[in-house]
This record gives sequence, structure tokens and C-alpha cells, in this order.
Amino acid sequence: LFITVEGVEGVGKTTNIEYIKNWLQHQGIDYVVTREPGGTDLGESLRNLLLHGDDVSDKAELLMMFAARSQHIEKVIKPALAAGRWVLCDRFTDSTFAYQGGGRQLNPEWIRQLETLVQEELQPDVTFLLDCPVEIGRARAAARSASDRIESQDLVFFNRVRDAFLHRASLYDRFRVIDASQDLLQVQQQIESVLVELGAP
Ligand code: C5P
Ligand code: MG
Repeated sequence: LFITVEGVEGVGKTTNIEYIKNWLQHQGIDYVVTREPGGTDLGESLRNLLLHGDDVSDKAELLMMFAARSQHIEKVIKPALAAGRWVLCDRFTDSTFAYQGGGRQLNPEWIRQLETLVQEELQPDVTFLLDCPVEIGRARAAARSASDRIESQDLVFFNRVRDAFLHRASLYDRFRVIDASQDLLQVQQQIESVLVELGAP
């Protein structure tokens, strides 16, 4: 199965991916954990340019995301799925619709065309969207570390990102929207119930 985890900054993506990873391990499921942008040497180089490069145009940003994704799909995701392993991915194309589409306001039709080119039929089986008001995520993320080129955008930007995620969640059945403003324990109970459903024979 191909599982993705999505959400704006500070919703607890990293913590909950760790939780899912431990769950998979405990079940004896063969899995790989990976992330976007990144997941391959080329992808990690692009990630570094995306997060710390200066003066990257919006369209260049979009194309770099998909260049990284193309490499990731061909070299990591498809081979793992073909070998019967589960793939747990920290962000995927929903992030591109949310950040480059919603945040940067690039035409979603261009994103759809790139999605077709790069993914063909590949889509996640399940997508966890960790959702909470952006102010809450912001406060958590700020308490954490130095922000990157994209994290330094304003609340208006992140509200567009959040809205774009929620819009996608309303369109596709693969989404499981989790209220990330709850206690971590409650968040994890909800995630676990979805995993149990997926892992059932
Ligand atoms: O998941 P993580 O928070 O590590 O993401 C790294 C950065 O890349 C974040 O600032 C995120 O907002 C940004 N990003 C983006 N567009 C994507 C994927 C990630 O702007 N499609
Ligand atoms: Mg993170």
C-alpha cells in the first residue's frame, strides 16, 4: 500500500509518521519510509535548492518538485510497491496542489498535467491529512527551529494552503482528515483505527 501524510507546518507530521512507522514495524509489515521533496540523492539536492536557494521562480519551484517526484517514483516508490512493500511518504502531490497551487496560486490545471506526466496511474491508496488552524501549527513550528524559504510565508499564504488541502480531501475518497488540534493521543488513536482497517486481511 502507498500511504501519504500531508498537512501544513506544525500539524505533527513528523511525530505521527514516526508513530505509523512503529505500528508497521510492530505488525511485521515490510515498509519503506520516505519523503518529498527528497527521497533520492537527486531529490534531496533539489530539496536543498528548494528550501534554501534564493530567488526561485514559482514555476521553477513547481518543476523542481515534479523533477524530484519523478526520480522518487521511478527509483524508490514503484520498485518498493512492486516488491510488495508498503510505502509511507511524508508529503506527495497533494502538497504541490496545496503549496504551489493554493499558496503560490499557480494554475491547478498545469499541476494536473504534470501529475499525469510524472505519475501516470500512480496515486496513494490512503492519505492522512493532519489538519488544524494555521495559527496553531505556526506556533508549534516557530517553537521548533529556523524556518526555510517556504515556511517564512505569511498566514494568508498558509490559509490558502490549508484550504487547498481541505478542498482536495473533499474530492477524493483516499483522504482521512484528522483534527490535529486534538491531543496527540487522540490523533494517534484515530490514525491507528485507520491503520487497523487497512492492515486487516
Ligand atoms: O514536510 P516538511 O515540512 O519538511 O517540508 C519541507 C518544506 O517544503 C516546507 O516548507 C513545505 O512547506 C515545503 N513544500 C512545498 N511544496 C511542496 C512540498 C513541500 O512548498 N510541494
Ligand atoms: Mg516536519
